[in-house]
Amino acid sequence: MKHEAIELAIIGGGAAGLFAAAAAVKAKVPAIVIERKARIGSKLLMTANGRCNFTKEIAPERMLRDIGGKAAEFLRPALTACPPQRIAAFFRSHGVKTKRMMDGRLFPASERAADIVHVFGDLLREEQVPLLVNSPVTGLQRVKNGFIVGMENFTLWAKNVLVATGGASFPKTGSVGDGQKFAAGMGHSIEPLRAGLTGYSTRDPRVTSLAPRRCERAAAAVCVDGETVFRAEGEVEFEPWGVSGAAVYNCSRYIQRRNLKSFSLRLETQYGTFDLTGLAIRPLKEAIVTIGGVTLDEIDPATMMSKKVEGLYFAGEVMDVDGPTGGYNISIAFATAAAAVSAVAGGSRLSRPK
Ligand SMILES: Cc1cc2nc3c(=O)[nH]c(=O)nc-3n(C[C@H](O)[C@H](O)[C@H](O)COP(=O)(O)OP(=O)(O)OC[C@H]3O[C@@H](n4cnc5c(N)ncnc54)[C@H](O)[C@@H]3O)c2cc1C
Repeated sequence: MKHEAIELAIIGGGAAGLFAAAAAVKAKVPAIVIERKARIGSKLLMTANGRCNFTKEIAPERMLRDIGGKAAEFLRPALTACPPQRIAAFFRSHGVKTKRMMDGRLFPASERAADIVHVFGDLLREEQVPLLVNSPVTGLQRVKNGFIVGMENFTLWAKNVLVATGGASFPKTGSVGDGQKFAAGMGHSIEPLRAGLTGYSTRDPRVTSLAPRRCERAAAAVCVDGETVFRAEGEVEFEPWGVSGAAVYNCSRYIQRRNLKSFSLRLETQYGTFDLTGLAIRPLKEAIVTIGGVTLDEIDPATMMSKKVEGLYFAGEVMDVDGPTGGYNISIAFATAAAAVSAVAGGSRLSRPK
């Protein structure tokens, strides 16, 4: 029986944590996955209405351009090393038949997100990767030879820790912002958490009277002082409370990233063109992605290791990264997880005191 620290503790059994576990198996890095909920991949199961749009088969350069801004620069090494093609190949090699949309979005051909989660469940079981469920991590402490990962009734000693606890939307899936708190507790700056990729409430009767209706070939545009500053094509949905759909979500990301306070939203649909003002963003708990998180300046983009705490890694939405709708966010989670694990495997951490 060994009495030593495990090489890698992965906190979070969501998209990033599970892909990290798979990468750890391949790289022969002994790892353990610690998950708050009773089962792994709760959020993955609800993605794309239970169909899981797990990547978009386009060139990484194009993906980075669509992501844009500081996040794109930060994600360049990870998405180049683990492009959508590698993500697709991973699932196909594990028996998932895929369905490719015209624009490159990839789904399991079964349209069942469970097939994606089962790949990870099967892999963890077959490779005997330890998995703790019902185990919220409550604290993280740096010690001389690694980290003490604290849970309610026991602690675990790990040489390296990967924080893959997600954002803070849909908290019932387990992502409640814990990782950002651990990071803050270890001296990291946190960009304020806010809703990204979400709808807007309005009482405008022109909109509410059309609910519920989905317009597949539509567009939404953000206008400031009468000028269109951003336009997205895609679905627009009229809801009893307001507007949603992919085109609206991508507009919300634009607005939230820039903290725009004064704007209008123009919807172009088969029912007419609507200029909407006085919109209220839906709450973070309903958002598809969380904007904000561990600040990117404090993470090495090549390894995902903290620049402040050696041996501490981040992957996925816990960081201040987000992309548009359409498979970008899961790709980001997977690629950053792969980068972190390959850094752990390559021993890229600095020499540690004995
Ligand atoms: C409705 C919806 C639909 C979406 N559809 C798509 C889509 O089709 N395509 C796409 O690319 N993206 C989609 N997304 C976004 C995508 O799901 C996320 O960006 C992605 O899951 C983030 O991965 P993650 O591993 O960082 O976080 P998560 O997948 O949220 O995983 C975090 C995990 O960490 C666990 N955890 C949290 N705190 C602790 C703790 N203290 N201790 C132990 N475990 C903890 C959580 O329980 C959770 O399992 C969708 C999101 C939503 C909400």
